[in-house]
Amino acid sequence: MGSRASWMLLVAVMFVLGSCTGSRTAVSNTAVVPPVSDLVKPKNVILLIGDGMGLPQITGSMYMEDNKSVFERFNNIGFHKSNSSDNLVTDSAAGATAIASGVKTYNGAIGVNARKESVPTLLEMAEKKNMATGLVASSSITHATPGAFIAHVQSRDDVESIALDFLKTPIDIFIGGGMDFFARRKSDDRDLIAELTTKGYRITDFVNQDISNLDITTTKNIGYFTANGEPLPVSAGRDYLIPATNKAIDFLNERSPNGFFIMIEGSQIDWGGHANDANYVISEMHEFEKVIAAALDFAARDKNTLVIVTGDHETGGFAVQPGSKLNDIKVAFTTKSHTAIMIPVFAQGPGAEAFRGIYENTAIFDKIKAALELN
Ligand code: MG
Ligand code: ZN
Repeated sequence: MGSRASWMLLVAVMFVLGSCTGSRTAVSNTAVVPPVSDLVKPKNVILLIGDGMGLPQITGSMYMEDNKSVFERFNNIGFHKSNSSDNLVTDSAAGATAIASGVKTYNGAIGVNARKESVPTLLEMAEKKNMATGLVASSSITHATPGAFIAHVQSRDDVESIALDFLKTPIDIFIGGGMDFFARRKSDDRDLIAELTTKGYRITDFVNQDISNLDITTTKNIGYFTANGEPLPVSAGRDYLIPATNKAIDFLNERSPNGFFIMIEGSQIDWGGHANDANYVISEMHEFEKVIAAALDFAARDKNTLVIVTGDHETGGFAVQPGSKLNDIKVAFTTKSHTAIMIPVFAQGPGAEAFRGIYENTAIFDKIKAALELN
């Protein structure tokens, strides 16, 4: 081969290599996934957050459920980078604020940015657009994840201030624990149950009626407390998250002709991880998967609802170990804290293609904002 021929070959090889690199670049969501503005718009968004739910928890749950997973029902899958503004390993407050408001902030922050300034949330923006809104959690409703969708406080520990912010946004329905932070406050002697009732809410709780009897006539906003403090784990008998999901979705669907936004949290997957208790993690995962199935079933009937499922971060460094068998896994943990692994995002329904790819956790806010045309 002459020097001219080998030069040509080299150029050709470089061209091929160059186009490989080029096609790798093209797998960014700008090239392959149509821009959000070109996608069909959903009327409703159901956002499901599994606290502490990464791929390890999803995998463990699947192998403990005959190799079956509700996540197999999704066609649009991406990953988010879960780090916060001050730590590669986020906490749930910064993680939820990133998803709710689109800003990277410090661990502990609820609805405020890294400069401690309030930032608007998806739920508040949906309210401004006269959509119906809801929050459902298997923790107290003032806990970091639900809190970051409605409250603006500098520290997640200030749960009584988070409760106060439920008076500032006319959220249509909320279901979760933490009644004491509304009814038996330590920082002041206000009765937030009475104040919410004055504002037109129908407030009830686990003592007065089982959630299956909750009346969801749409004339009034609803608050339902599932516990005075934190609700029990599934393994200790908590069973309200699935009926709460169905009640809240049916209520919101009737509540406004302009569509709805709801965030539903499987809160205690995280607590199982902190406890390094595999059975705790798996039982919470199995319940959360049924919650996801209920949301997908509604969306399949409605055909106008975008369902998004993700976690805020992984908890425990959960790993399925050698020696595991189907429906009998052995699990090890690397930490009692959270980890920094990327977190999967699953989407189904109108506009779901926008959730493919790898992006920051804050992009979930941007994508939902665009899908619902919020501002
Ligand atoms: Mg949480
Ligand atoms: Zn945690």
